[in-house]
Amino acid sequence: MTGTVRDRRAVRVAAPPGAPRVDGGPRTTAVVGAGIAGLAAATALAERGAHVTLYEREAYLGGRVGGWHTDLFDGSTATMSRGFHAFFLQYYNLRSLLSRADPGLGALTRLPDYPLRHRDGLHDSFRRVPRTPPLSALGFVALSPSFSARDLVRMRPAAALALLDVRVPDVYERFDGVSAHAFLDRLRFPRAARHLAFEVFSRSFFADPRQLSAAEMVLMFHIYFLGSSEGLLFDVPAEPFPTALWDPLGGHLRRHGVTVRTTTPVLHVTPAGGGGYTVATQGEETRHDTVVLALDTPGLRALVARSPRLGDADWRRRIGRLRTAPPFLVSRLWLDRPVAPGRPGFLGTAGYGSLDNVSVLERWEGESRRWATRTGGSVVELHGYALPEDADPATEAARLVEQLRRVYPETRHARVLDARHEWRGDCPLFPVGGHADRPGTRAPGTGLVLAGDLVRTDLPVALMERAATSGFLAANALLQEWGVRGHPLWTVPDRGRGRLLRALAARGTD
Ligand SMILES: Cc1cc2nc3c(=O)[nH]c(=O)nc-3n(C[C@H](O)[C@H](O)[C@H](O)COP(=O)(O)OP(=O)(O)OC[C@H]3O[C@@H](n4cnc5c(N)ncnc54)[C@H](O)[C@@H]3O)c2cc1C
Repeated sequence: MTGTVRDRRAVRVAAPPGAPRVDGGPRTTAVVGAGIAGLAAATALAERGAHVTLYEREAYLGGRVGGWHTDLFDGSTATMSRGFHAFFLQYYNLRSLLSRADPGLGALTRLPDYPLRHRDGLHDSFRRVPRTPPLSALGFVALSPSFSARDLVRMRPAAALALLDVRVPDVYERFDGVSAHAFLDRLRFPRAARHLAFEVFSRSFFADPRQLSAAEMVLMFHIYFLGSSEGLLFDVPAEPFPTALWDPLGGHLRRHGVTVRTTTPVLHVTPAGGGGYTVATQGEETRHDTVVLALDTPGLRALVARSPRLGDADWRRRIGRLRTAPPFLVSRLWLDRPVAPGRPGFLGTAGYGSLDNVSVLERWEGESRRWATRTGGSVVELHGYALPEDADPATEAARLVEQLRRVYPETRHARVLDARHEWRGDCPLFPVGGHADRPGTRAPGTGLVLAGDLVRTDLPVALMERAATSGFLAANALLQEWGVRGHPLWTVPDRGRGRLLRALAARGTD
């Protein structure tokens, strides 16, 4: 059962009030970028009767969670992607988006655990951890072999108390000036546990904890441990992303009249004389009343640089300063034999060089399962984040495979029948002190809004959920300008749970 069950203290962000639908003539909107943020914005606007054109540079929907066909050595076709993505239970707005085309969220399947393994032999698991805060955090500490009694005595509980009452945007005022690494030092957080628990979060931002703002990591701790009761349970799509998620959502969009234009990069956007914006693509200029820029960091920076009349000088400077996190590598291997039967569908790793996690795709993805059943092989995916900018992709790919052989020794004798490697660097960096530069939903100028996981939402959301939430917020901002009712949103509790925890937090020190 994967449907949406919300924490009983989840917070409802009311929809801006207004008419049920766009009235008095069509409102046209260009949504630029069909990642999760653009898909959410297009959905939310089209459902209220706006005429939406969705422009996407690539041939597929889903952005960083998109997928494309690749021909394998044996003549079969597989769907390649940037691979494993955890759809956590706290992703209320993303789930709401997906449920438009899949009401029971039958396309998602639950993985039983979030196992973590350190090379020193330490294992952690979140399955047995109680899910009610603060027992979730205390339970993790008590059950985790990464925390020895001596470690606990050395920790500075007063500094940790701040974690009990995390609020947005207050968390940025308090912790954006400190790196995730320095914050953990301040807590005297034990080294092994640091890899296994906290760094899982900071690495999921594709950044070295020395570069990442502590505010983002503290926010993650709130979302998964102390602020919500869903813990680290997550779902994954049971088929490749296009089949499971985006083809059905694309159908929903088309049924609501959205014109979906893939393989159509937007070259520039210019304020039009009589109001609205001209959106230029190869050989074509189209006027739209409003524009949603739902781009990744390099895409937004480049589009704004090519659109000199968009926004104002300060906004443009801030967009120009946005940075991407270091590159990451996703390697998918088709092996000639199976991994050992007990291997989980997903394993977080620490201490294995650049290897951050290993997925065994046939455990949960139908397409890979069918290939593995047919051939007797295994489809394994390796992720390495925050790699050096000047690293050689082929060397890094070889290193990931070397580490796989340490993690799952049975793969030492396996032949790699085929492999695909995705070396990219388009995730946003949330650097120390960078929050002030981050653009919000509304851009200077009427009818121009932003969405994406790089956008500031002032809500406790991150990654894919931030992308989805920001898309709905961008649509709501436009609908509000038109006097049309927006869409309600949900988030995990926006502060510490209960008076006792908040009182304890107030006694802590930063
Ligand atoms: C390897 C990997 C693993 C991840 N794992 C997780 C996970 O487990 N859980 C999680 O929550 N998140 C995870 N993430 C993060 C998640 O993928 C992103 O947060 C999310 O997909 C961002 O969506 P978005 O819509 O903001 O941006 P994007 O998906 O990047 O969408 C932006 C779109 O704009 C398009 N575009 C760019 N320029 C133009 C142009 N000029 N004209 C038209 N279109 C343009 C791009 O092609 C793209 O489709 C992971 C990311 C990666 C890379």
